[in-house]
Parts: sequence; C-alpha cells; structure tokens
Amino acid sequence: MAPFQFDTSYARLPEALFARVMPTPVRAPRLLVFNHGLAAELGLGEAADWAALLAGNVLPEGATPLAQAYAGHQFGHFTMLGDGRAVLLGEHVTPDGRRFDIQLKGAGQTPFSRLGDGRAAVGPMLREYLISEAMHALGIPTTRSLAVVATGEPVVREAVLPGAVLTRVASSHIRVGSFQFAAASGDREALQALLDHTIARHAPAAEERERPALALLDATMARQAALVARWMGVGFIHGVMNTDNMTLSGETIDYGPCAFMDTFDPATVFSSIDRHGRYAYGNQPQIAHWNLVRLAEALLPLIDPDPKLAIALANAAVARFPELFEAAWLGVFRAKLGLVAARPEDRALVEMLLTAMRDTGADMTASFRALAEGAEWPVEAADRGAFAGFEAAWVRRVADEGGTVPAARQRMQAANPAIIPRNHRVEQALAAAEAGDMAPFRRLLAAVTRPFAPTPEDSPFRAPPLPHERVQATFCGT
Ligand code: AMP
Ligand code: MG
Repeated sequence: MAPFQFDTSYARLPEALFARVMPTPVRAPRLLVFNHGLAAELGLGEAADWAALLAGNVLPEGATPLAQAYAGHQFGHFTMLGDGRAVLLGEHVTPDGRRFDIQLKGAGQTPFSRLGDGRAAVGPMLREYLISEAMHALGIPTTRSLAVVATGEPVVREAVLPGAVLTRVASSHIRVGSFQFAAASGDREALQALLDHTIARHAPAAEERERPALALLDATMARQAALVARWMGVGFIHGVMNTDNMTLSGETIDYGPCAFMDTFDPATVFSSIDRHGRYAYGNQPQIAHWNLVRLAEALLPLIDPDPKLAIALANAAVARFPELFEAAWLGVFRAKLGLVAARPEDRALVEMLLTAMRDTGADMTASFRALAEGAEWPVEAADRGAFAGFEAAWVRRVADEGGTVPAARQRMQAANPAIIPRNHRVEQALAAAEAGDMAPFRRLLAAVTRPFAPTPEDSPFRAPPLPHERVQATFCGT
C-alpha cells in the first residue's frame, strides 16, 4: 500500500488560492524522530525510505504539491503572505474517511517566500514536534507532527544552524488569513469556492443554514472560544496570534515562540518579537475576538449582498464572542477544580485561586496539581495563608453540589496535568539535540505525552525551574 492515500480537494480550488510547487530536495535526509503512533492512527502505508519522502527528495504516490496563498494581520498590520517555506503534499484520507493535510514545513522556497530561504532549523522543528504532541496529549486541539528530518544542510539565521523539515498533519491549514487573502484579492469566485470548501471540511451543517457564511463564522467562533479557553487552562501562550496563525478548524497552529508559563501572571510574554505584549497570556481571549472580527470582515460579501445588512449580521454574530468565551473558560476552570455543576459564584471562586497564585508567585501547573493531589501549596510556608480563603470556599462549594473532596480530587487529576513542556526542559532537550544527542528529547517527549499519569522517572519534568533555570524569552527562529 502507498504511504498516503491522497485526495487533494484544495488542488481543485481556483488557482488564485495556491501555487503548484515542488519541495526542493536536500543533501542528506535523516529521520530524527518519527511518530509511529500517529502513522498508525492515520492508517499510513509502508515507505521504502521515509526520510527521503518526508524531506521532499522523493514525491509520494498521488501527491499534488502546492503552497497555499493567505494573508494576515501580523501584530495588527495587514500583509499578503502564503506558505513561504511549507509545501502541502496532499490530503491523506484515512481508512475511516477522515481527511488530513500532510505538509512539509521547511521544504524550500515557494512563490510566497519573499526574502526567506524556505528552510527551517532543527531546533524550532523539534520544538514544534514536541509541543504539538504535548498539546495533543493534553487533549487540546492541535496540528500534529509526523516526523522531523534533518536535511544535512546548514540554514543561516543569526548563527549557522542544522536544517530540518517537519511533517505537519492538520485537519486543514485553512486560516482566518486564507479568507482575508481571497477577500483582499477581490476574487469573488475564489472567496465563494474557499467558503464552500471550508464548510464541506469543517462545518457541513452550515450548508443547510439560510446564511452558510454566517453559520461558518458562528462555528469558528465556538471552536476558537473553546480552544483559547483550553490554552488558558494550561498556561499556554501562543505568542504569535496573527490572523494567519488562526485556523478555521479550531486546531492550534504554528508553534513558533509559544511557551507555557510557570509562575502564574496574566501579563506573561515570552516571545522576543512581541515587544508590546500584544499576545500576553491574559490578552489571548481579546486577540481571538479581534481576529474573528477580521474573519467576519472577509466573509461580509458572502453573508449578504446588501453591505449594510451583512455588517449588521456580522456585528451581531461577533458581539457574542465574549459570552461564548466566558462560558468555555468557566467550563475549563470548573473542571480544573473538580466541580460538576455550574454555579453563579464560580468565576469569583476561580479568581480567588488565581489571585492567590499571582500574589504569591505560585507555579500554575504545580498549584492545580497540588490541589488535585491533596498536597501542600507549592509556595513558601509563609505564603500558604494566601490560599486559605480559597480553600475553605472550595471545600464548601464541593459539598454544596453534593460532592466529596476525594471524588473532586480524583476528577481533578484527569483535568490538571502534572507535566507540561516546561521552557527550561524544552531548551535543555533542544540544545542536546542540536549537539547530536537525541536522548534528552526522547525522555522529555515521553514525559509530556503522558501529562496526567506521571511515572516516578518523570519527576524532573514536573518541577518548576530553579531561579537560574528560568527561561526569559523564546524565539521563533524563522
Ligand atoms: P510565521 O511567523 O511562521 O507564521 O510565518 C509568517 C510568514 O513568513 C509565512 O508566510 C511563512 O511562510 C513565512 N516564512 C517564515 N519563515 C520563512 C523562511 N525561512 N523562508 C520563507 N518564508 C518564511
Ligand atoms: Mg504562520
């Protein structure tokens, strides 16, 4: 059986939406990591040489390689973009009929490369592999990673680095920016085709609705509200929530300078390029809303031919985002507190805990896990009093819904990870990998992909960083 069962619907869309382009072969492809579990889930066939295939040196049977066109607001500024260093090999259809994009990231230049070399470095590609697989294990919608292949070629950034290609698997790569591209190019036919395509892939029920474009907007808002709420629940900071990095599928995409925060502080920013903290942890819900307004703008001509009516309908739709998000956020944090019923005082209860964490500089993951395990709060003994009010209120609240503390704690252990990919551990693993030793990466990968059920050997990965281990900034490495 061929490695992939390709049926690439995107290649049948109007040509304005993409460019056909071959991956550029590399000198010496070598598999650094291959995701056997994902290959099995996807029902992939055998390949004589996965490294050659996933480096782009050999084209798999049935591939229709292309680079997608898209636009995007980058830190608020609109730009026409496109896959500058990624090539979609095709859409693989699993034996049970699910469709996934198979994309090579770092596969060489495309018509959208602008001044870039089309390449990627080993460190950032292993980083995306690790964090996307950790997110999946946390139960958070995300693109997946099938493999990282070292190219045997250098890439020149601030330093000369070893090159790599990541195989990204996604339920699609359709972005808010894909619609912005079609809208900005003024090609009504392409915009309509992209809408029909996206509805067929991600919101088939929207087709039955009176206004399918509005129904797609609603579905995307619901998915993004749920997604960002899940990020907030694990302290994930995406870092580059540009509209080209927000999917219609509701999957997390583009793991550039993303990071998980250790000590709880809504103002946390890691990305070295986010100088004004636009994408700080606590800003993510508002940014998601802003991005969805950009999606609504792009969809306007498809919502109604009368611009006034289209704007009124779109405004009414996007105005619901804060309330959708609030409900999703409360759902996430209620589960984190082991609560089952919804009560009006729940927001205040969660805020009591978050405030105590912020005021004491508590580690977010360790704090929730301590509550789940009935352990001491992971702060200095002198600071534990800050949690007393919350803890008493929580015990009352659990009893109030007819529950018991042990049962709540049991539920909490399935809702609060013991292990997240902590920045200092990620950096240590990547530094070793860049020096040729993949063992620390493999150990960390194993730990972060069983986040709720740590084994004794995982304990080094549970601990927050010591002061000198703390990572101050992350880099996107493009
Ligand atoms: P990102 O910041 O990864 O979301 O990328 C933003 C845009 O820059 C996308 O259009 C990428 O394809 C493009 N890009 C990033 N790195 C490179 C590169 N090395 N060569 C060409 N294009 C790139
Ligand atoms: Mg991107």
